[in-house]
Amino acid sequence: MNKHLSALPSPHDLWFLPLGGTGEIGMNLNLYGHSERWLMVDCGTTFNVPLDPSKDYEKGVKREEVVIPDYAFIEKEKDNLVAIVITHAHEDHIGGLTSIWPRLQCPIYATAFAAEVIRRKFINEELYYELPLVVINSGDQLDLGPFNVRWINITHSMIETQSLLITTEAGAVFHTADWKIDDAPVLGSRFKSAKFKRLANDSVLAMICDSTNAKQPGHTESEADCAAGLHTLISKQKGRVIVSCFSSNLARLVTLIRIANKTGRYVSLFGRSMENMLSAARSVGIWPDDLQTIPNRHVGYLPKEEVMIIATGSQGETNSALDKFSKQSNRHCELEKGDIVIFSSVIIPGNERSIEKLIERLKALSLEVFHDETHSDCLHASGHPRQQDLFDMYRWVKPTYAVPTHGESVHMQMNANVSYCAGVSEHLLGKNGDLFCLSPNFKKVQNFAETGRIAIQR
Ligand SMILES: [Zn+2]
Ligand SMILES: [Zn+2]
Repeated sequence: MNKHLSALPSPHDLWFLPLGGTGEIGMNLNLYGHSERWLMVDCGTTFNVPLDPSKDYEKGVKREEVVIPDYAFIEKEKDNLVAIVITHAHEDHIGGLTSIWPRLQCPIYATAFAAEVIRRKFINEELYYELPLVVINSGDQLDLGPFNVRWINITHSMIETQSLLITTEAGAVFHTADWKIDDAPVLGSRFKSAKFKRLANDSVLAMICDSTNAKQPGHTESEADCAAGLHTLISKQKGRVIVSCFSSNLARLVTLIRIANKTGRYVSLFGRSMENMLSAARSVGIWPDDLQTIPNRHVGYLPKEEVMIIATGSQGETNSALDKFSKQSNRHCELEKGDIVIFSSVIIPGNERSIEKLIERLKALSLEVFHDETHSDCLHASGHPRQQDLFDMYRWVKPTYAVPTHGESVHMQMNANVSYCAGVSEHLLGKNGDLFCLSPNFKKVQNFAETGRIAIQR
């Protein structure tokens, strides 16, 4: 703890204190501090392959383990924690709740879908708490202690993602959450710039912003662009089509099932996490009723040209559905020459070798393999903003300050450069544990809170 500052913010202070997700992509855990109270935004895990393996091995964190941020700081401050607000249901934003929430026991605010996914996580891990989950809708505005929170729907590769306008007596913060500009997101409502332009009237002090794609110029492609690329490729095929994508990307599942319907194929989902996401979407009424899937056991009996398999395992995870197909150990269906495998996904840094090995195994079965990163047409659309998207958002919101987050230092630096070009004259760059004082003075206190990673076994 830094000796020059009290542990608690005064009524004149507005603080941002990330314990995870700043200086890295993953395990987001953000704290806002004002008037002796804290508000937590998101509580995630990081990818199972550490971003810096050599460093993490030294700390005893092995591959394949789930990692959460060290939350000791907020555990000590739990009496002053008013709530946890969840922006969306990606693991790097909710995955830590089952480990961390039992030590905090405060109310959790989430949309209907995120709340459903959170409930299922607790049940799957046999944690039978009466969760104080409050379901919110986009547009809601609530006082949570001294923080007034307004939820603003934003497009991302996860349904119902919410950015937040957090207003206090000491100023207002726009927390973008993960986002992209998507005029045709396939599922959920399209991006509406007017909502963000109106924020300029709210005198936003600081914009805390996603940096994931800040190294890339231009705009991020729409989910609809990816639908066109996938349709072109799939419509030419005569054998089985196997597509691997992130199980949480419901819009991609909708896209694929619609393409299957148009091209005379039945769809079966392989992988528990994918079935769980679809079931959660059905139970809260956001899944289109006309889109049907068939059980895995039927796939082996159908003509090859009538089959589309959507499988988990795009990162080369051991024991995932695609891993089993590559080893011909799926009991319902064996792949054969003439079948194709499409990776409708990115390569997450750290997973290059496992994906390469998986592709080698698939090719050894005489299967043709297509990956978005090497294919001419778009087979995957990212959920994060590129430079032009960031530029537009800074111009619309007009914050006084920029605080890039959700990225490694290179991504955050690029995001800061864009903010400067968009007219935001001051920014702060830092890392987990640094305190970003947004008001009354804009400054950073390094290493304010102890941080680190905790490996958890599940
Ligand atoms: Zn994220
Ligand atoms: Zn996300």
